[in-house]
Amino acid sequence: MRRLSEQIKACIDYRSFYTRYCQTHARISSNRLQSLCPIPHHAHSGRGNPSLSVDLERGLFHCFSRDEGGDCIRFYELMHSVGFVQAVNEIASELGLTQKQTESSLIRSTAPDAEEAADNQYEPLAADRLSAICEAFLGACRREDQSEGRNYLARRGIDERSTRRVGVTYFPRRAYRRVMRRMMEEFPLDELQRSGLFNRQAHLTFYRHRLLFPFYVEGRAVYLQARTTASGVEPRWHNMRGSVPSLYNVDLLEDLNSSEVVYLVEGFTDTLTLLTHGFAAVGLVGAGGMKEEWLAPLGRFKVVAALDPDAAGERAAARYQEMFSARGMRLFQLELPSDVNEFFQHHPAAALEFKLLTEAALEEQGF
Ligand SMILES: [Zn+2]
Repeated sequence: MRRLSEQIKACIDYRSFYTRYCQTHARISSNRLQSLCPIPHHAHSGRGNPSLSVDLERGLFHCFSRDEGGDCIRFYELMHSVGFVQAVNEIASELGLTQKQTESSLIRSTAPDAEEAADNQYEPLAADRLSAICEAFLGACRREDQSEGRNYLARRGIDERSTRRVGVTYFPRRAYRRVMRRMMEEFPLDELQRSGLFNRQAHLTFYRHRLLFPFYVEGRAVYLQARTTASGVEPRWHNMRGSVPSLYNVDLLEDLNSSEVVYLVEGFTDTLTLLTHGFAAVGLVGAGGMKEEWLAPLGRFKVVAALDPDAAGERAAARYQEMFSARGMRLFQLELPSDVNEFFQHHPAAALEFKLLTEAALEEQGF
């Protein structure tokens, strides 16, 4: 029921919903509707000033004269003297939604375009426009409630300070329609589609991938990857079009002194786990994601690879060792019994152990 009510809010048009009930002395300016209050049990005289105000952006109403307010479902309850469940069901059926249908049709209409089809149809977007879209999308999402995203990361042992520092952003499902409209107000559809944020059906993608990890380069978000926080959703990841532009969290290097230890890890979670425990880390997307041109900025640090202890991680570590030595750089290797996040989740004294393992590696592998 809660999900269905969120889906109502994701696709209802507040303006037409409220204006249906509010005809008398109604006035709309800059997304706010004002009218005489039609709520029957308020028993307004019908004279006097309009006491009902509706925020058409958020869909919230408030009657100033009786000091009562709420969302569109509450409004429907009051107008028709019905309970929550009946209100949700009736609005949903007016909108042509049923619980299952809504979900699957939304999933279909918001699905990212297949990569090949998009590549054939759309010219890639210039980097500064892609960045502007990333920044605007993050900004629109940050105006919404972030707690679900923060809680998800907290359950993985990642603290809020680190989450904020790297700009991880949550896109709540119930804000879908609002965020989509904000983006359409700010950018031409063609650019939104070329960026991969919108699909060919002119819908905002990222509907199922709502935990957003921006890549910041010199303080600007230049790219985004997002993961699903629900189980059973495949693929787990979705991103803007184009390729990963940098190491994840590369901006951190600016703040470090030369010859400090920097960890090279796999993925966002491991990067954030280390930040949470006070270690400096940059992340690769997938074990094999390192690019030659990203090496130079690492040159002045002691770089310690802590990749996953699986075949892919080991292959990557061996290859990076060669890449680093070809440039006259050194790459230290840390061997953990599990990936970084698991290590910290399961060892009570993980931070200390991690430090000791690092010192041992530097000593053994040093010259
Ligand atoms: Zn009223």
